[in-house]
Amino acid sequence: MDNPNPKPIKRIGVLTSGGDAPGMNAAVRAVVRTALKQGIECVGIRRGWSGLINTDFMRLDNSSVSHIMNKGGTILYTARCMEFMTREGREKAIATCKMLGLDGIVAIGGDGTFRGALALTRQIAESGYYLPVVGIPATIDNDIGCSNYTIGFDTAANTAIECIDKLRDTMQSHERCSVVEVMGRHAGFLALYVGISVGATAVLIPEREVDFEQDVVEKIRRARLGGTTHFMVVVAEGAGSAVEIGKQIHEAIGIDPRVTVLGHIQRGGAPTGRDRETASRMGYEAVQALLSGKGNRIIGTKAGALTDMDMEEALAMEKKLEMYRYEVLEALTPGI
Ligand code: ATP
Repeated sequence: MDNPNPKPIKRIGVLTSGGDAPGMNAAVRAVVRTALKQGIECVGIRRGWSGLINTDFMRLDNSSVSHIMNKGGTILYTARCMEFMTREGREKAIATCKMLGLDGIVAIGGDGTFRGALALTRQIAESGYYLPVVGIPATIDNDIGCSNYTIGFDTAANTAIECIDKLRDTMQSHERCSVVEVMGRHAGFLALYVGISVGATAVLIPEREVDFEQDVVEKIRRARLGGTTHFMVVVAEGAGSAVEIGKQIHEAIGIDPRVTVLGHIQRGGAPTGRDRETASRMGYEAVQALLSGKGNRIIGTKAGALTDMDMEEALAMEKKLEMYRYEVLEALTPGI
């Protein structure tokens, strides 16, 4: 839905919502700096959509976004807000938008955040008020259909790889089996990327049904027969519990795996260059989209370039894991 009656954009809101992702700050900075250069005021909405409900905001100027590029997390805080899922909750949010005089919003987050944006703009349109929202995909899960890449993935992957490299040093010395659970919610993008990068013996992902005997036990056996004495099994959180997988390995072949759940450590830390640079470009593009009268768009990447797509269309897209990556993993797994 593009702006039916374009009027100059004078003041915009920016928020971060859903799970935090390294690089969100770089996106906030890019939105604010791009907007200010165009003479647009910026209001930071704190704690995601709940900030609109609770009128929780801060003025943002050039100095508010200085020295945040290198920081993980988000200076605007983030939240999951059940009240925003209700009409009554969104009515309060709409009142805040009107009170602040917002001409547009940039929402940085995952698909839930964008579903919220769509619900808000539809409801606001019923009162004859037009409020465009542009989304920037930021989630370590990389599970947004309309974008090849989401901010935070690279940092989270590198954090997991660094942790697993450290684990490997001790596993190698003690000739042990390690089972490591990585994040990714319902998707295996992170686990497979990390698994390939650490040379895992086996990787379990939700997109592929697990045949425990073939996919885990036999791979460990073959690695052992090929001369390997330590094994690394990477489990996507959406594919099951690493603790359970560890128990099953013990029952099947008698070895005693050490289980590590990396958890929220993967969300922290200074964003990588890739996340900072992508976030900066996406933040810039989001403001350009608002200025050009576009409404309800999600910025994305395709073949390295930035795109923007209608929010409703974008949310209907499903992102499929490229299974050839699994074939690569299998081809490189040690064995006889
Ligand atoms: P991540 O991928 O990191 O979890 P996300 O943006 O998908 O990020 P969610 O918790 O799914 O995270 O969504 C963020 C917030 O968006 C929710 O807490 C809720 O306030 C709002 N939201 C999600 N879905 C809807 C919906 N269908 N209608 C209204 N609001 C929604």
